Amino acid sequence: MEKVLVIEDDEHISAALKLVLESEGYNIAFSEDGEQGIDMINSFNPDIILLDIMLSQKNGFEVCSSLRSNEEYSSIPVIMMSSYGETNNIVKCFQIGANDFVSKPFNMQELLARVKSHLLLKELNYEKRKLKEKVIEHSIEGVTITDAQGSISYVNPAFSKVTGYSAEEVIGKNPNILQSGRHGKSFYQHMWGSLLKYGKWQGEIWNRRKGGEVYPQMATITAIKNSDGVITNYAAMFYDMTEIKKNQKEIEYRAYYDSLTKIPNRQLFLDRLTQAINRAKREEHMVGVFFIDLDNFKHINDSLGHATGDIVLREVAKRLSNCAREVDTVSRLAGDEFSVIQDDLVDIEEAGVVAKRIIDALSHPFHHENNELFTTVSIGIAIYPLNGETSADILRNADMAMYHVKDFGKNHFQFFTDSLNEKAMKRRDLEDGLRKAINDDNFLVYYQPKVDLKSGKMVALEALARWPRNGTIVSPTDFIPIAETTGLITSLDKLILQKTCSFIKKMQETISSTLNVSINLSTKDLENLHLIRDVMDTIKRFGVKASNLELEVTESMIIRNVESAIKILQEFRDEGFSLSIDDFGTGYSSLSYLTKFPLSILKIDKAFIDDLESNENSQSIAKAIVYMAHAMKMLVIAEGVETQGQLDFLRSIGCDQIQGYIFSKPLPEDEVVELIKSGKTLSLG
Ligand code: C2E
Ligand code: MG
Ligand code: MG
Repeated sequence: MEKVLVIEDDEHISAALKLVLESEGYNIAFSEDGEQGIDMINSFNPDIILLDIMLSQKNGFEVCSSLRSNEEYSSIPVIMMSSYGETNNIVKCFQIGANDFVSKPFNMQELLARVKSHLLLKELNYEKRKLKEKVIEHSIEGVTITDAQGSISYVNPAFSKVTGYSAEEVIGKNPNILQSGRHGKSFYQHMWGSLLKYGKWQGEIWNRRKGGEVYPQMATITAIKNSDGVITNYAAMFYDMTEIKKNQKEIEYRAYYDSLTKIPNRQLFLDRLTQAINRAKREEHMVGVFFIDLDNFKHINDSLGHATGDIVLREVAKRLSNCAREVDTVSRLAGDEFSVIQDDLVDIEEAGVVAKRIIDALSHPFHHENNELFTTVSIGIAIYPLNGETSADILRNADMAMYHVKDFGKNHFQFFTDSLNEKAMKRRDLEDGLRKAINDDNFLVYYQPKVDLKSGKMVALEALARWPRNGTIVSPTDFIPIAETTGLITSLDKLILQKTCSFIKKMQETISSTLNVSINLSTKDLENLHLIRDVMDTIKRFGVKASNLELEVTESMIIRNVESAIKILQEFRDEGFSLSIDDFGTGYSSLSYLTKFPLSILKIDKAFIDDLESNENSQSIAKAIVYMAHAMKMLVIAEGVETQGQLDFLRSIGCDQIQGYIFSKPLPEDEVVELIKSGKTLSLG
């Protein structure tokens, strides 16, 4: 039941009010003077007050004012009543905080309506306030409210959770009990300055928990003012940033360090290099940059798996770090590429010494699960300011020097020189040209005859790529390696196969005696998962049979990935292709493993043929090769035969065929057709 307190000295009015209000179900109490009225507010705890202005002891204005100054009662609605309804009076009522005013004599129904409406409003306000309180109580942000003097009047549970202090422990205290001692005077001065000037301060602040731990928090402090603009309270909202800071550190770590090896990554490397160069500029010293690439990492990864590959990378990172000085930065740039920045380099020789140390450190094998792992590195070195002005220049030149090491046998280091640059430019020029030539289908195929040593007749041809460029013909030895490293070889070999197929078709249609043609495959071709399908599609399209074609592979190509090479070659053989091993003797020269592969022809490398007449060693090797190949049911053909002496020797040891200038150089299409038509034979002397 809602309670109404009537403070009124006119008995008649009181009686009338009692009648009406009680019939509406309100609980009523009366007071006749102001002083007593205030006491009754305490004891009766009314929901609404009807207050006369003209009273004895204290008048209605005084009662209302004192009510409003008391926080506890400030929200009780007050309706003031007076027979002096001049504007002045009414305005004053509202100024001192009354909610409503009625002039006497009043209509009872109207008063009742006002009472009801104020009670409803109060209820609504109360609900709203409760809701706000609930939000604050359950907020995950800590909340502290102090009075104007800075004494804490309220804290929420989140405050206690973060600081470790219960509400009872801090109420009435100053928030400086939380100070960590990490901020100087000026910090707090600035905070207060901002609070007084803008009514607000926001920032990061280090505080101390009850347990003593110092922690970071993000806080917003607001000065709360009353209607006169006087600050009555301060409210602070804050959250603990410990976790966020930790995550930030983790994020930073991840952005700058390689997660596998725990050494700086490319990003940090570039930062440090730029810094080192700027410093070197000021202090006039040098900076050395090593570009380090593992020589056989792909092989380790492919054959032993990624897990082992990871172990190798970690071990390399460790060894590199051991070789470098404290001030140097060792980083992993990507995959199997590492780098060392030699800050504060005084003597170029020093760079060479460290490079040697690195090569030496990596030359020792390490052991992992019964595997003895080896990896060597190729190192390119560029020096600021000798080899470039910017970090990008230096890195590019170190990279270039590293490539040069790769081209010349790996496991070595090389300083950048300008001639390398020239070479690189030439190479880039070739690369661009090659790409364009492949796009424009600007290639020729020359065909070189293979001759049978018993009959002297041409028995087959080898297709060899030719690149006409700027009026000359570029040799495959110049462009095939580039095509391989750039991956262009796959497209190039497809093109050569198409041209060869079209040539075979033409030969079949125009001349009676057609010959089989061999084409050369490259390592990259064997890595192409669709190789067989691609080749089959092409020969079908041109109407050429697999038995008209022969595929040449080299030892180094198939030894790279023996299992998959066996599989691919077997499939080709099943389709009807014959397969030959090219440049035999230059690679691993192990005949025994060749039995694993479905090869039918062996081509002895030109290197053995060249000195056949002068070198007895070469003679006995050639003899052994022929003997063993025959034992394995393979045909033997000698490459690059130029002289009669070579020819005679090869015949004497039972070699089956030859290919070489002694009979014919590789010839363009129409010339080779003429040659076939002429029926020319090799004079066997
Ligand atoms: P290869 O397959 O061993 O080809 C034989 C090379 O020896 C050819 O060089 C040929 O012109 C040369 N030659 C033959 N007889 C003689 C001789 O009596 N004296 C001398 N001095 N040289 C002779 P070429 O055409 O320069 O090709 C070089 C290599 O480039 C080839 O070696 C082959 O590995 C590769 N190649 C050529 N065309 C292609 C192609 O279309 N695709 C692929 N993947 N590689 C190719
Ligand atoms: Mg060949
Ligand atoms: Mg060859």
